Amino acid sequence: MGVFTSKTGLVMGVANDRSIAWAISEALYQQGAELGFTHLPSPSSQRRVRRLVEPRGARLILPCDVQSDADVARVFDAVRETYGKLDFLVHSIAFAPPQELRNPYLQMSREGWHLAMDISAYSLLAACRAAAPLMTAGGAIVTISYYGGEKVIPGYNVMGVCKAALEHSVRYLAWDLGQQKIRINAISAGPMRTLSAAGISGFDRIRDHFTQKAPLGRNVEPSELGTTALYLLSDQSDGVTGETIHVDCGFSVVGI
Ligand code: NAD
Repeated sequence: MGVFTSKTGLVMGVANDRSIAWAISEALYQQGAELGFTHLPSPSSQRRVRRLVEPRGARLILPCDVQSDADVARVFDAVRETYGKLDFLVHSIAFAPPQELRNPYLQMSREGWHLAMDISAYSLLAACRAAAPLMTAGGAIVTISYYGGEKVIPGYNVMGVCKAALEHSVRYLAWDLGQQKIRINAISAGPMRTLSAAGISGFDRIRDHFTQKAPLGRNVEPSELGTTALYLLSDQSDGVTGETIHVDCGFSVVGI
């Protein structure tokens, strides 16, 4: 028996075994959760995700491009049909056009800005709206942010602006969802080597700087993001909503 035995969740944002969403899924599986997954519609995304989650017995594995309202609706209809309810949601999704991330923020195109905001920030709102009616006994939602939403991290550019919007959306969503006993929080994660991180120029420099400045003197382990997500998604954090919790070895509390 684990803390999540008989709890059902949807995980949006596993791309491969390096994804933060996968680290969180592994922690949830260890505690007995039943998990459904979404992936990008491409055949290669589907193959990678199925290879990971089918051996775990996932009953719901569906394509979902969060830019499509129809995709989001179809996924949550399928959640209703498959499980009848939802206890928690993991949103671990972001995108910005890589070529635009390489330019100064000042040069960002209107189109690129809207695309990044749509996928990285609006998608949380869309997913919460679709998930809430399925959380009939209350629920918990977690999304993943980064310190670049609070301070300037050169090269992070529009993603930082998206993370600021994401973190503040968490507060407004906490307000709207609180009446239904649905909690929502963000984890602000230290830099992890993932597919998305490959699009951030100077990412290795950011990681090196991180280990020098963080009080714990090291990078965050993926499993540490998993255990914090367990806390935020379980009743151990029943009084916590609208928060952004830094899991960053203390990096964000240090000035110089
Ligand atoms: P990742 O590439 O493994 O995950 C990003 C996910 O976003 C992928 O699964 C991808 O399929 C999904 N995605 C992108 N566009 C999408 C769309 N249109 N529709 C549906 N899904 C889409 O990388 P990750 O680092 O695990 O990123 C997960 C989250 O963690 C992101 O929000 C990222 O900004 C955040 N984060 C990452 C780091 C880091 O250093 N890697 C640090 C802090 C926060």
